[in-house]
Amino acid sequence: MQPFSYSKPTSQPDAIASLQANANAALIAGGTDLLDLMKLGVTAPDQLIDINGLALATINVADDVTTIGALARMSDVANDGKIKKTFPVLSQALLASASAQLRNMATIGGNLMQRTRCPYFRDTAFTCNKRNPGSGCAAIEGFDRGSAIFGVSSKCIAVHPSDLAVALVALGAEIAIAGGEAERRVSVEEFYLLPGDTPERETVLQPGELIMAVIVPNSLEARRSVYLKVRDRASFEFALVSVAVAVDLKGTTIRSARIAMGGVAPRPWRVPAAEAAIAGKPATMSNFSAAAAAGMAAATPARLNRFKVTMAQNAIARALATTTGVQ
Ligand code: SF4
Repeated sequence: MQPFSYSKPTSQPDAIASLQANANAALIAGGTDLLDLMKLGVTAPDQLIDINGLALATINVADDVTTIGALARMSDVANDGKIKKTFPVLSQALLASASAQLRNMATIGGNLMQRTRCPYFRDTAFTCNKRNPGSGCAAIEGFDRGSAIFGVSSKCIAVHPSDLAVALVALGAEIAIAGGEAERRVSVEEFYLLPGDTPERETVLQPGELIMAVIVPNSLEARRSVYLKVRDRASFEFALVSVAVAVDLKGTTIRSARIAMGGVAPRPWRVPAAEAAIAGKPATMSNFSAAAAAGMAAATPARLNRFKVTMAQNAIARALATTTGVQ
């Protein structure tokens, strides 16, 4: 590990000023991803700016909108009674992430900024365009079982790792950002970038900017929401495929649904074809299966991950069935 300096500002302006003064500085909060990457030699900031002293850990569930501070711990959000009731998908996604010990340390902002788990990205013996732009992509001709089936490019086929981000896309949430000319909000869906020719750029966050909070609209759909995660083992594992759904149900008819997936694309992947196919339809297993098939029609699997197409299709249908109570 390279030597680095450490500072702990106590105000947001001071934290942003420190960040903007050094292009090779990194923010640290829970440190559950950053410290791993530093120990592996994947990243080597020369300054760590500890933001745990900032007042950004509040969870505020109001009538129409909920604000979750970037420094709220994953476990605190997941186990908050109002969050569980108002946004079941959010609590479920967080509880399906990492381990209890990691959830006690890791923050909401850090979870959204975690780097991909592509094994070639985390092993400096291999080429990786995301870690070292222009060097090549070892995954494309390598072990691609965990890679994406949507949104890939010739430069990168890695999947986005956050369960939380998938749930937030299904909920239509936004991210509040400070550090630019003015504070701004970006939808979680638009916060993440596809790899294209620049897989090293993963979000719209600009140098010197800081995530302050996540803002989630309260809605009836949010209360009827569910997160389903399929993985190789039941705990402390990333998704092969995951699905977040939020459904507006009237009687036995689905008026509308928001469906997002994890483990299938370089960013949380909204599935508009499935949403359109199920809107206005009776909540039946055959309709769920047809919508799920429509959602997967454009998938482009690699050599070893064709199973993800069927798995994702089944997961969408099952998530819709769970949230509507259909057997
Ligand atoms: Fe790197 Fe992306 Fe290729 Fe993985 S898939 S080795 S992250 S460029």
